[in-house]
Amino acid sequence: MTFADPSIAVDALLASRLHNALPALWTNPARQAQPAAALPALGRTISLDDTHAAAARLARFAGLLADVFPELAATGGVVESPLLPAAALQPALGWAEGQGRLFIKADHSLPVAGSIKARGGMHEVLELAEGLALQHGLVQPGGDYRALATPAAREVLGRYQVAVGSTSNLGLSIGVVASALGFQATVHMSADAKAWKKDRLRQRGVQVVEHTGDYERAVAAGRAEASRNPMCHFVDDEQSFSLLLGYSAAALHLQKQLVEQGVVVDAEHPLIVYLPCGVGGAPAGITFGLRQVLGPHVHCFFAEPVQSPCFLVQMLADSTQGGGGHPSVYDWGLTNRTEADGLAVPRASLLAAELMQPLLSGVFTVADDTLFAHLVQMLDTLGERIEPSAAAGFSGPAMLMGTTAGQAWLRSAGIDAVLHQATHLVWTTGGLLVPDVQYQGFVQRGRTVRAAQA
Ligand SMILES: *Cc1c(COP(=O)(O)O)cnc(C)c1O
Repeated sequence: MTFADPSIAVDALLASRLHNALPALWTNPARQAQPAAALPALGRTISLDDTHAAAARLARFAGLLADVFPELAATGGVVESPLLPAAALQPALGWAEGQGRLFIKADHSLPVAGSIKARGGMHEVLELAEGLALQHGLVQPGGDYRALATPAAREVLGRYQVAVGSTSNLGLSIGVVASALGFQATVHMSADAKAWKKDRLRQRGVQVVEHTGDYERAVAAGRAEASRNPMCHFVDDEQSFSLLLGYSAAALHLQKQLVEQGVVVDAEHPLIVYLPCGVGGAPAGITFGLRQVLGPHVHCFFAEPVQSPCFLVQMLADSTQGGGGHPSVYDWGLTNRTEADGLAVPRASLLAAELMQPLLSGVFTVADDTLFAHLVQMLDTLGERIEPSAAAGFSGPAMLMGTTAGQAWLRSAGIDAVLHQATHLVWTTGGLLVPDVQYQGFVQRGRTVRAAQA
């Protein structure tokens, strides 16, 4: 190796941008166009059958969910979000003509949890409830799960506890769903979690335990407490297959929505998806599902805050050191401080990272100011309310089309020649439940950033 080797130069530049908390792009040299149908994932394998099983489980519970959550009555208990055409946003994002069209997958509007966590969180609580219900004879296989709403069934589930460690949205999802089914629900939060989230949980009968320190400390404390109670199920954001598979079911629905909107995905019409990433479970589950159902011409990129690029540094470690490490963003001299609280995670899920090795196209980072600017543009052009974490994907297209590293990737992936026929899909992951005062604060900061940019 010499300094003339261009990959060395790019890596050094990437490393320096990461260290200095500047927006950066990493693309995955290990991505495979045709990965195996069943992929290794922390000691087991995952295949599309698992995704179908998760979707079927959600469907079995739809009737019960519609009964338990009034906000789901209209959809018959189906928790899904629209796919929104967003051409109106393209000029605001500084997009040139002929670079494809933009859609938004509006998980910021997912009912019950108000974020993407509705998908995985709900699935894991339902899987637990289903196992216990069958074991205790509360329902029969293939029977009507609305039987679980009866006082007798709730009394049985109420003997069990569901616990989770979370900065925010995962706790909201798990806590609210578990409590609604009659479980004792406990959410371990870091002390800096937003007050409105703690309030919302307590109003729903969820026990909120506050811990000093960051997300990892809250998770560790929750895990330790849960391990002492055999009647407690701990939802492990970093290692849960159930969460991951719940997220992956989104791909099946999106596939139908793309057909409805006339979006074709093939070599001439690539689909590029931009997904906000925290620990990595949600975007990895979705990427797994999308690669299984749409094939090699869907390209998924994860988006992380410049101070919390845990997935990027994990993928970098795996690709440069042959795996084995589990670096944190602190190791890179970063603070893990960001207003994108859904993404403020110092260390990635190893399950998600292993699964993503042959599937993911890349990871990029985004500055907090940019999140707020995009949050405001989303409001002004489409009238949609998102939270800062949910805005992380919006800088993806510019990252690919407007940087040297991005353009090099577009060429190597064979996309530059067909870019005008590409579809860009930004996944907006949360916002529905953010109280108005909080949201107005976000908008104000976004307008200040925009004014400074003008
Ligand atoms: C949790 C979350 C994500 C990312 O999910 P992970 O599984 O942690 O990667 C993205 N956006 C929002 C709003 C979230 O709450």
